[in-house]
Amino acid sequence: MLLAHPALMSEYILEIADGVWECRCGNTHDLEGFDTCDETGRVVEPTLGPWDGSLHLCTRCYRVINGDTLEILGSAAESIIESNEEYRWMPQ
Ligand SMILES: [Zn+2]
Repeated sequence: MLLAHPALMSEYILEIADGVWECRCGNTHDLEGFDTCDETGRVVEPTLGPWDGSLHLCTRCYRVINGDTLEILGSAAESIIESNEEYRWMPQ
C-alpha cells in the first residue's frame, strides 16, 4: 500500500548481515559501533532494568534505534550526548 505522506514514513537502519547493522550515517559494529541506551539516548548498562532490551544508540550520529525492528526513533539531545561522553570515561 502506498502511503499518502511518504515523508512521515518511519526510517530504518540497514541490516547488512544477520545481526550486523549499518546506520544511516554509515556506522557499523566494526566502526564506532552501537551502545545500549534508554529512550532518551542515554547510554545504560546492557542489562535488563536500566535497559529495556532493545534500544541502541549509534555512537557516531546519536540516532536512537529500536534493535528489534531497526526503526530509527529519533536522535539524542545535546545534553544527553554530553553525559554519554562522561559515562564513557568512567572506570568500568
Ligand atoms: Zn549513525
